[in-house]
Amino acid sequence: MRMIPRAAVAVICLTASLGAQSRNLGPGLRPYVSVDAPVVALTHARLVDGTGAPMKADQTIVIRGERIVAVGPTGSVAIPDDARSIDATGMTVIPGIIGLHDHMYYGGMKFMGVSYPRLFLSAGVTTIRTTGSVDAYQELNLKRRIDSLQIPGPSVVVTGPYLQGPGPGPGAMHPLSGPEDARRMVRYWAEEGVTWFKAYTQISRADLAAAIGEAHKHGVKVTAHLCSVGFREAVALGIDALEHGLLTNSEYFPGKQRDICPAVADSVIYYGLDVSGPDVRRTIGEMVKHKVAMTSTLDVFELSSPSRVPFDQRVLDALVPEASQQVASYYASGKTANDAASRTMFRKSMEFERAFVTAGGLLGAGSDPCCASAIAGYGDQRNFELLIEAGFTPEQAIQVMTSNGAKILGFEKRLGTIQPGKQADLVLLRGDPVRTPADIRNVETVFRRGIGFDAAKLKESVKGLVGLR
Ligand SMILES: [Zn+2]
Repeated sequence: MRMIPRAAVAVICLTASLGAQSRNLGPGLRPYVSVDAPVVALTHARLVDGTGAPMKADQTIVIRGERIVAVGPTGSVAIPDDARSIDATGMTVIPGIIGLHDHMYYGGMKFMGVSYPRLFLSAGVTTIRTTGSVDAYQELNLKRRIDSLQIPGPSVVVTGPYLQGPGPGPGAMHPLSGPEDARRMVRYWAEEGVTWFKAYTQISRADLAAAIGEAHKHGVKVTAHLCSVGFREAVALGIDALEHGLLTNSEYFPGKQRDICPAVADSVIYYGLDVSGPDVRRTIGEMVKHKVAMTSTLDVFELSSPSRVPFDQRVLDALVPEASQQVASYYASGKTANDAASRTMFRKSMEFERAFVTAGGLLGAGSDPCCASAIAGYGDQRNFELLIEAGFTPEQAIQVMTSNGAKILGFEKRLGTIQPGKQADLVLLRGDPVRTPADIRNVETVFRRGIGFDAAKLKESVKGLVGLR
């Protein structure tokens, strides 16, 4: 009985001292750190706090150690004497972005363990869920190095290897041979430390059900990029979340056979689909009723409509020369592309996401930085503009990209908003992204766990590396 209070006191002392002492920063991390002080005050900032509330002008945010300790109008918040004060006049503070479909691979599923962690962080992404891994041990080891402040990067929620059925599919995936195989794979990786799984396009209902059941026994969650299984079927099997939205839901295809992914050519069905009709409303209703969250990945879907993809020199700079040339020609192809049908389907995808949120659904966002111009961090920033185009206010778009992501991951007590008591994961941007959405790109400093990183240095360090390592 006596041991319990003593242990509790020790824990409290440890927490208090962590707040004040400066931390041991590894040599691989130190060059990118621009703010490392026990107490930091950001003054005169515009604030978009991640709750969806309208932007507030002239705010002060005080950070002590890893936590936000005070937020309020400048002048009403006491600035501690020992604080390092940063004048944020003309700047905007948003919570660190939580990227929910933020792979650690690019171009042929090559692991980007060097460039991507820095690129995510430089763009203001402070937490990612990898949502399908081609090398889960690389991700687990990377996560440990980031967590122990050896290298810069976002906090990584590692997702197990893809849960995929037999049939055509990338060579990095294990083709499941049945429910027992699905349970065996989930059990193994859950014990290795992954906390999410992603099921993929060819999985059967039986394998998916087995995987979900086993995952939940281990406190692990399951999301999916579906095709063979429809959204409503997956909801009925107890899935936790669904990726990508409308354009991966095959249940509207006439003649859809169960457990079979329809041919790509059939996707023209979306072109004439009534997103406000009863069939789509039923899908959304069942997702909301069963609290199945959804990840918007508009930036990667936009790639099918090259005529509307904005040129981004930063992408070309980050890519290895060969890939950079390919993406340059992709941008150029947009000038003559006849992609009206794709654009119509893209708009329907946006409508679906709006309808899902209007119905009470929990929507997060991720960049799916797999290919072409969709790369780590910059894809997440593009999502901000696309969510606004889809009809969200800038503050709601930030909410989708931050606190909604935290809720989906179960981190909402610790992350996702700028409020006292929350972990100090926040982004200092030049300009005003509420008035000018493109200002989301003007990242000055990214704070993760109270340490400020120089966005420009991180960005400079990955030039020509994406696609290589
Ligand atoms: Zn993906």
